[in-house]
Amino acid sequence: MGIKGLQKTSLLDYPGKIVSILFFGGCNFRCPYCYNPKLVLDHDQLPDISTEEVLGHLRSRRGMLDGICATGGEPTLSGELPEILSKIKEDGFLIKVDTNGTNPDVLQDLVRGGLVDYIAMDLKASPDRYPEVVGAEVEVDDIRKSVRILLDSGVEYEFRTTVVPGLIGKDDIVAIGKWIRGARLWALQQFRPGQTLDPSYQELRPYGAGQMEEFSKLASRFVRKCELRGV
Ligand code: SF4
Repeated sequence: MGIKGLQKTSLLDYPGKIVSILFFGGCNFRCPYCYNPKLVLDHDQLPDISTEEVLGHLRSRRGMLDGICATGGEPTLSGELPEILSKIKEDGFLIKVDTNGTNPDVLQDLVRGGLVDYIAMDLKASPDRYPEVVGAEVEVDDIRKSVRILLDSGVEYEFRTTVVPGLIGKDDIVAIGKWIRGARLWALQQFRPGQTLDPSYQELRPYGAGQMEEFSKLASRFVRKCELRGV
């Protein structure tokens, strides 16, 4: 499970920074609303992008790029991740990792090794609804451990929840809020229909802006800052 995509420039994927995005293939979840199904289901058919190619690109943009964002798929499933990030770090770039939180040991090693400067962790559901929402078996204790790592590690972080009608409602916001009480940042992301892993979500209507504002107010009771995205 290597790097399957490289977006050369993004102003949106690392708060306040200009980065390149590395897309890792493969994921252990099957979120029905996933907007990158090819990377999740058909990653074996996509060609690999070598670490050398990535490094060459980053070096050619030195001074214009602050760093990279490793996303997926699920980047922590790649056994090559620490080595790739280590090489990028040696070149002096900042590193953000997006994760679904299923590999706390990998996350802990990245933190201890100084290989990550910012972690964005998805919280897909309240603890008791996880398997239902992610469409896969899941060790919720691993997700809990990852939550703890973010809260305690001292590395900059954010939690993110995609607010999908039918999967996330008021009670779920409260349950997740209690779980991450005191967190520095929780982003509530608007669900985007269109290209989704489960075709039945392709035409699902997102929550309206007013309802998203209500969720944001509710979430703000639990965390230091709540941000609405995509609304
Ligand atoms: S949305 Fe779900 S299935 Fe898609 S990459 Fe993220 S964790 Fe995996």
